[in-house]
Amino acid sequence: PPNLNVAYVGILCIKKTKKPKRLSLVSHVLSFSTPSFRIVMSFLLMQQQKPVIIIGGGLSGLSAAKRLKEAGVPIILLEGRDRLGGRAHTVDIAGNQASWVELGPFWIEDHLTNPAYHLLRDIGAQVHQHDIGPSTVRIYDRRSARWLGWTATLWAFIKLGWSFSRFGKLRRNTAAFKNLGERIDVVLGKRPKREHLYLFKIFSESLNGGSTYDTHQNQLSDDLWEFTNHDEKSQVLIAGGFRLLVELLRDSLSADEVMLNQTVSRISIQQDTSAQAPVKVETADGNSFEGSNVIVTVPLGVLKAGTITFDPPLPTSKQDVIERIGFGSVEKVVMTFKNAFWRRHSQKQDHFFSIPDPIGSHGSFFDVSMSSGTGPGSPTSPCLASVFGPPKAAWVAENPDAAVEEVLSELQMLFPDTYEPPVATAASNWTTSPFSGGCYPYTSVDTQPGDFIKFAEPTHDGRVLFAGDTCAVGVALGYVEGAMAAGERAADAVIATVTDSQSA
Ligand SMILES: Cc1cc2nc3c(=O)[nH]c(=O)nc-3n(C[C@H](O)[C@H](O)[C@H](O)COP(=O)(O)OP(=O)(O)OC[C@H]3O[C@@H](n4cnc5c(N)ncnc54)[C@H](O)[C@@H]3O)c2cc1C
Repeated sequence: PPNLNVAYVGILCIKKTKKPKRLSLVSHVLSFSTPSFRIVMSFLLMQQQKPVIIIGGGLSGLSAAKRLKEAGVPIILLEGRDRLGGRAHTVDIAGNQASWVELGPFWIEDHLTNPAYHLLRDIGAQVHQHDIGPSTVRIYDRRSARWLGWTATLWAFIKLGWSFSRFGKLRRNTAAFKNLGERIDVVLGKRPKREHLYLFKIFSESLNGGSTYDTHQNQLSDDLWEFTNHDEKSQVLIAGGFRLLVELLRDSLSADEVMLNQTVSRISIQQDTSAQAPVKVETADGNSFEGSNVIVTVPLGVLKAGTITFDPPLPTSKQDVIERIGFGSVEKVVMTFKNAFWRRHSQKQDHFFSIPDPIGSHGSFFDVSMSSGTGPGSPTSPCLASVFGPPKAAWVAENPDAAVEEVLSELQMLFPDTYEPPVATAASNWTTSPFSGGCYPYTSVDTQPGDFIKFAEPTHDGRVLFAGDTCAVGVALGYVEGAMAAGERAADAVIATVTDSQSA
């Protein structure tokens, strides 16, 4: 490779020069085929090497950048927004350092075995258990304007858990349903209870991101897909939020390695494999960057929108997979209040919702007060997040003010005696943002087994690598730790090619 030739010429020059003390030490080290020889060689190679260009400064891109940097590989990270973190976005909505709320991810799942939690634990971050289950949920029926009571809630959750675990056990082709929605309809029967219909359809859609009628009937079958579902042993909120994880990764990089406000519009790959700069990346503002490889971490929604041109184009098989995998729509309205007026009852209320009449896409409330401080032991405020799934989520993204109004009037209706206006509110717009185009991936009816593996495969002779949460093969598809692992995996693949070219 050309890099090796340059290094070789460099070594010859050193040997022919009259040696000052430092250089004679260098030539001494170079004269042995020892580990120090290899370290110096790789240093010289790195000096010549074009950077790896990482597109996207979410947790996947940041993880890839950190990994490459630790291996001594030069990098440039290009981020389209004016901030890092991507979908991991914790905002201090009242600006008082005590109202940090997540517009993106809330929870670390199965935290004891989750690498994202391990990183946070090492910097002393604290987490709070935040389970959704019959003991922490209150269901209100808007038609009768009453709370359903513990027995109905417990029964609804037992039925939900039992049915979904049966769905998970069904093997390929054992039932001929067109989609998950049809399977749910069969389980619920002709006259389902309102709370069952709500939990099975509306509530599960707000977690899945896709409509049950567009979700593959076997989405929950672990043995069919190339990703694993969580054990669901725990679900925790981070005191201070995912912001802490973003800052932790950001701090491992230097300012000249990260460029904000760089919306990538074109990725060109040289056909000549011996080219000095095999990859050229251009932005919408006319900037251009040259590199050895590119790691694309933009969300699937951005690739679906086709706002980045690949030259030569992505292989048809890759384009088909991008079409087939679903990318969902979940939005949040977040609020902070002076008092937690919804905690009218002494019982713990992590989560509550009202079943609308007629039943339709609707938000459900999560009490996220415990994580709203800056970190362990710091002051917190009463905070709520209302989470919407499809199709209402798209309406929230397009009409944030109307969505806030609607959420507040629902709170007023549920708690007429104690309600008070909010101190501050905010709403997310993942579905309409050109930097996400949705919330996270799901297995649509068109998705085929093996699609996630195909999506994660590099293209253009390995010059273009893919990361991000849709590449979370084998681990946590659509979750933070999956996105981080995919970034590290892409980085490792690049590091392996650098090491190979050194030993060639
Ligand atoms: C509402 C919501 C709730 C969620 N809940 C959870 C949860 O509870 N737990 C969990 O683990 N996960 C959750 N997730 C998923 C989690 O947020 C993602 O899996 C993870 O953050 C994805 O990281 P990423 O780096 O792959 O993508 P992103 O964070 O989206 O990063 C991609 C980056 O690419 C940038 N970009 C896009 N286009 C361009 C371009 N053309 N040029 C340059 N840059 C570009 C974007 O601005 C972004 O910064 C949730 C997500 C949402 C939206």
